[in-house]
Amino acid sequence: MPKQLLMGNEAVAHAALAAGVSVVAGYPGTPSSDVVETVAKLHAAGLAQGVHVEWSTNEKAALELVFGASASGARGLFTAKQMGLNVASDALMSLNYVGVRGGLVLYVADDPGPISSQTEQDTRRFASFAKVPVLDPSTPEELYAMIGSAFELSECYGTPVIVRPTTRICHASTFFDVPGTYAARPTPEGGFEKDDSQWVIFPSRSFRAHGEINERLTAIASDFSAPEGDGGEMGQAAPGDGEEAACSAMGQFNSVAQEGTEAKLGIVAGGVSAAYVREALVLLKAECSELPSYRFMQVGTPYPFPEEAALHFAEGLERILVFEELDYVLEDEFLKLAGKHHLPFAVHGKLDGSTLTRGENSTEDACGRLCSFFACNEDDKKACCTSSEASCCTEADAPAIDPPVRPPVLCAGCPHRGSFYAVKEALRSYRGKHKAVFCGDIGCYTLGNAKPLAAVDTCLCMGAGITMAQGIAAVEPGRKALAFIGDSTFFASGLTGVANAVYNNHDITVCILDNSTTAMTGSQPHPGTGATLMGGQSKPINIEETLQALGVQYIKRANAFNFMEAKTAAKQAIDFEGPSAVIFEGPCIQLSKPSTAPTVDDQACTGCSGCIKSIGCPAMSMGEREGREKPLMEINESLCWGCNLCVATCPFGAIRKGANNA
Ligand code: SF4
Ligand code: SF4
Repeated sequence: MPKQLLMGNEAVAHAALAAGVSVVAGYPGTPSSDVVETVAKLHAAGLAQGVHVEWSTNEKAALELVFGASASGARGLFTAKQMGLNVASDALMSLNYVGVRGGLVLYVADDPGPISSQTEQDTRRFASFAKVPVLDPSTPEELYAMIGSAFELSECYGTPVIVRPTTRICHASTFFDVPGTYAARPTPEGGFEKDDSQWVIFPSRSFRAHGEINERLTAIASDFSAPEGDGGEMGQAAPGDGEEAACSAMGQFNSVAQEGTEAKLGIVAGGVSAAYVREALVLLKAECSELPSYRFMQVGTPYPFPEEAALHFAEGLERILVFEELDYVLEDEFLKLAGKHHLPFAVHGKLDGSTLTRGENSTEDACGRLCSFFACNEDDKKACCTSSEASCCTEADAPAIDPPVRPPVLCAGCPHRGSFYAVKEALRSYRGKHKAVFCGDIGCYTLGNAKPLAAVDTCLCMGAGITMAQGIAAVEPGRKALAFIGDSTFFASGLTGVANAVYNNHDITVCILDNSTTAMTGSQPHPGTGATLMGGQSKPINIEETLQALGVQYIKRANAFNFMEAKTAAKQAIDFEGPSAVIFEGPCIQLSKPSTAPTVDDQACTGCSGCIKSIGCPAMSMGEREGREKPLMEINESLCWGCNLCVATCPFGAIRKGANNA
């Protein structure tokens, strides 16, 4: 098999294809997006035969579609980030009761930090809430192995299975031996088999199903506790191999190791924290004069909790330190274990502040906390600091790093800048008791919150801007309430909000920032573009027609880069009583080529800096000129995209369109 350097997410695509997956669907969301894109690339290259891959309109649509394929007996992979699972949760809660036929795996990537998310929610918690098994890899290699095992577990028990990596696992790269060419497992003869008693979720079916779920979770917990090695070494199982042994081989993802004899101290870790702890233990062993005996358990199957394996691990221990990111899921399980079995060990972790209560763990942090747990002497702490820069370093020893803060801003040439600027200028003549409220949404345009635009007052979740604006309009009649939503988010979660505004006649203006792509997650297509991952071009869904169909009576379209046109459209829509909409059109710079930068007429420029204070384009700055007392505006041509928006911002006409943009 050829060796390939793959990111964790790319490896997931290969693992799912190796497992014979037929349908892969999701909605873009960092850190999970590369899975669908990798499957699409392999499919486009003819290396993934018989596979259907798509970006669905949103996560709920994706999961329901994958479930349909599973009902026909095919294997399906759903992908989303942690909050995407919230959107799909309605389907997940019910489909678990119905049960699956073809293997159904949910790849849900968590984001400790958070690095690119609104919350630090923990999908392991969601799994136990939904009563769905979850696997938690500590390395990309384990992630690859878990995908294949998850499909097998899913079919073994007729249950959906969640595989939940965190950002570092999704984005870390390593070498894999992968087949490189794949074919989907054929859909069973006859396909979907009609059976009301299974596929139609009446209450009586739900009651019966709840019992079945409880029973299978008990059996799965027992499989998860099967001694390590029953199914081969952790991380080495080939996806699709050994279907018979699959259910009993799941214990491979939980491991116990002991250092020394008569250990009284135990360390537990899950997910990427297990990798950090392993590294920290190696460092400590090398640097510290004497470490006490200890036992280490990695939990790769947090739910249902492998109680038998944990009991075996905890035998004779007096203190246990738990490392995990996001929630205290494993810590809770060990506390329950101690209570249920009247065991004498104490549990330390997030709940008593022994480990970080939020954000990401690290090898350095684990090193310092293990030092304290092991009660290393001061000299040993210093020694381990030398090699690892662990947090057991004294303040004075730590290197002073104070990098300058550079907050994220909209790109130079971004059409959203023009849209926000036009709306704000259109509102200048409006004299209300309170300033207009700008309800933002999830996408690049959340960056419109930064000064000088300051045009995002709220941001909650996908689609919420449109409905939040309605709530504000309901209790503050007369105050202008505007909602800003991107084109992809509009299709994903905006339509019901618009329908609600029309139905209840809320006086809001919806600004659709149409840059023809899903920009923030890497420029994926969506229903408004019509481009599909199967290589075909479907009929793009027209946003204006969609708004008309939903009953919005006042709709304007405007070029986001044409200031006067955009401002006029915004003013007219804002003045309209009742739900109105403006579609601001302008391609994302990821889809366009730069044009010639405007020029600044030094004789006309007064150095007032009004242009920069209006739109804050990162290509604009103030610079010294010979013979001029005040700095004048200048444009950094290496950053400028030539959108010409700045031309409209100078009251003295000092900024002139570039030569090719007359
Ligand atoms: S270009 Fe115009 S707005 Fe900008 S600093 Fe010069 S005079 Fe002021
Ligand atoms: S033309 Fe003006 S607003 Fe547009 S990218 Fe260049 S400097 Fe920025």
